[in-house]
Amino acid sequence: MKTPIALAMAVMVLLPACLRAAPAKPALEVVVLGSGGPRSFGRAGSSAIVMVAGVPRILVDAGPGAFLRIGELGLDLEKVDTVLLTHLHIDHSGDLAAFFNDRALTSDGPITYRIFGPDGAGLFPKTSRFVDLLVGKDGAFAYQKTFGVRETFVVRDLAIRLDSARTKIVDEDGLVVEEIATHHGDCPSVAYRISYKGVSVVFSGDMDASALPNLVQLAKNADLLIFNCAVLDPPASPSQLYDLHTPPGKIGEAARASEVKSLLLSHLAPDVESQEAAVRKSIRASYAGPVAFASDKLRVPVGK
Ligand SMILES: [Zn+2]
Repeated sequence: MKTPIALAMAVMVLLPACLRAAPAKPALEVVVLGSGGPRSFGRAGSSAIVMVAGVPRILVDAGPGAFLRIGELGLDLEKVDTVLLTHLHIDHSGDLAAFFNDRALTSDGPITYRIFGPDGAGLFPKTSRFVDLLVGKDGAFAYQKTFGVRETFVVRDLAIRLDSARTKIVDEDGLVVEEIATHHGDCPSVAYRISYKGVSVVFSGDMDASALPNLVQLAKNADLLIFNCAVLDPPASPSQLYDLHTPPGKIGEAARASEVKSLLLSHLAPDVESQEAAVRKSIRASYAGPVAFASDKLRVPVGK
């Protein structure tokens, strides 16, 4: 009498190789391109590629160094047409033009990008104007459109008031992207949730603690929450940084309140990196799920 496992193995041996199931690709996988922030200390600026069913499809932020990491990883950009910008600080957007150029030079046919990012306020242009300033008719890199294949940029500026409703911005063949406004000092900012085949990942972007209710709502029951962790708990970081970033203790509380299944900390500052044990302890005070620290080129399958 064979056990079910032995029987299954016997069947596998009898099946021709072409009929054996290939290892399943995760429904969603995050490839961290940049896990650092504005200062240069060896990590690229904030950026990630989201693979959908094994195919790179979505670029989340494009901090300086993303271009280099894309090349190092040999990522095929052919299907990366969706760009989600959490905000327009340089450490999240400095490589956007380089990404457009790379994508255009390695493509066979015309490209239609759909780009999402915050509306403008104060010193910050709305995202559609930002893209125009880069590659529009009168933009700094207007030549770029003549360089590779034909490119169309469809840009949507997202609401930035904290009382704006959570909004679905992509719903296509089972792939869903939702967003909600957050708060990052004077810089308009949003967070994103990407879902496919029953799993979800949420990108907090940079945000201060005033936007946590929105983030918790967006992240409810997500498989993975990627939270940018750029400060230590007060008073260990310069006080003005708490108007821009959420400290570890509050990140732990948000992870617990949203009941996310796992937490990945990214956008790591040198002092956060060097005090990993204290950061983990602070988060652990509220959140019992798995916590990991990001590194450039880290690949994280989402859920299951
Ligand atoms: Zn940042």
